[in-house]
Amino acid sequence: MNIDLSRRSFLKLAGAGVAVTSLGALGFGDAEAAEAAHVRPFKLASTTETRNTCPYCSVACGIILYSDGDVKAGETARITHIEGDADHPTNHGTLCPKGAALKDFVNAETRLTMPRLRRAGSDTFEEISWDEALDKVARAMKDDRDANFVAKNAAGTTVNRWLTTGFLAASAATNETAWLTYKVVRSMGLLGFDNQARV
Ligand code: SF4
Repeated sequence: MNIDLSRRSFLKLAGAGVAVTSLGALGFGDAEAAEAAHVRPFKLASTTETRNTCPYCSVACGIILYSDGDVKAGETARITHIEGDADHPTNHGTLCPKGAALKDFVNAETRLTMPRLRRAGSDTFEEISWDEALDKVARAMKDDRDANFVAKNAAGTTVNRWLTTGFLAASAATNETAWLTYKVVRSMGLLGFDNQARV
């Protein structure tokens, strides 16, 4: 931050600084210590910092999650504050309003934290495990690919394409994860492949 000080203002400020320093030299150290004892400790000092990426959009801003509760000691972590990561090359500590409100999103009682399934014929969703959800997705993909994979087109040219399933990737992934996702999706012959960043 730039402070535009006139010479007169600077001399007044410098004079005030000298006066305060002189008070300390004259034995006001105890008063200052008493004053400091009344200052509340920085409330984030006792929390755990975890670096992460904002999940909302393709800008993928770096964030720091502050939580209390010692996970290593078996306690449950509770996120108490989220702010932009000043060391992150994308956002340098800034967040847009959505990112700035992330704590409420993370702690929302209505937030889904488990996969849900509405079985055929049912009118309600039921919670299922991640393993069951992944197995069901893998099974459905395999069955669809086996039934619809096109190895050659009508002219006999090898095309190796699978047009009946699409894949949507997340934009908050690292470059390495995105590269790997692309390789897996394309190696299966999927052409319908898009990214959250464009949605
Ligand atoms: S803070 Fe805003 S701009 Fe940054 S990733 Fe989140 S939603 Fe996008």
